[in-house]
Amino acid sequence: MIDKVVLLIIDGLDVVNFTLGNTPTMSGLHGRTAVGVAHTEILGAGTTITPIAHAMMGTGQNVIAHRPGKETRGRPYTYLGEPATTIGDVACQAGIPVAAVGKNEAAIVVGGLDRLDISRLEMDGIDANDDEAIAQETIATLEACGSRGLVVATYNGVDSAGHKNNVRGVIEAVEKTDRMVERILEATDPAKSLLIIASDHGTNPLTGRHNNVPTPLVLINERIVGRMDLGVVHNLEIAITIASAFGLSLPEAFGRDLFKLAIEGLRWDSGDYRDTLERQLKEFTAHQAKRPQLRD
Ligand SMILES: [Zn+2]
Repeated sequence: MIDKVVLLIIDGLDVVNFTLGNTPTMSGLHGRTAVGVAHTEILGAGTTITPIAHAMMGTGQNVIAHRPGKETRGRPYTYLGEPATTIGDVACQAGIPVAAVGKNEAAIVVGGLDRLDISRLEMDGIDANDDEAIAQETIATLEACGSRGLVVATYNGVDSAGHKNNVRGVIEAVEKTDRMVERILEATDPAKSLLIIASDHGTNPLTGRHNNVPTPLVLINERIVGRMDLGVVHNLEIAITIASAFGLSLPEAFGRDLFKLAIEGLRWDSGDYRDTLERQLKEFTAHQAKRPQLRD
């Protein structure tokens, strides 16, 4: 059973930026890593989609969210205007402390600012571009959670360097990310912790803009043997993966339990995320109450 889950979101880290740097830890040289390539195409990653990308990771649905700030608490909503159930909601119901570190968007993943037991965000004075600070705060927060905990941390260094057209800065931030992951791993029990590294979208340092290049998705835990290839995945699948790791259920979430796939290996019938989404969408539509039809 997993006691602690850390979701580390590296803003701007697409698969191109990922391969620019030397990343022995994230690339799995320690032999307990599963790596997938995540599509971001549903979102149209060229626009300001970061809040939606974070909301998707926490709900397993395409939902609406706003960046937490003076006027919004960062709660994700369905397109029908209902609050969407997040991994933070089910963790909280199960008595698992919920925390967010770094960029304010991290709070969206777990259901917004009102859901947080521990808040170490930009709005609390944390510098989301400082890898040392993010690593330190994440480790301290894990400690403060006690025996169980869900910590979402968002690091901004790669995105920030990308927007400044700073290729060398992107490489440095990617390598800093890897050391950050190494530090967090050293501070956690590899058997009882699941570390997930994901990205909301890529940021191209040549154009200085967000893009829709696929992003890496990395899982690290002792039960994963070697370097598993998860194939094509979707960030939607993060929500169900985290809920399942805690032994919780998130019925509305789309996708597959990636940790289970990483442990058991991909079988012929594991499918990729598209098969699963299509099947789940059919079931979902069949169970929906008849909704008002648009007239022409
Ligand atoms: Zn950005």
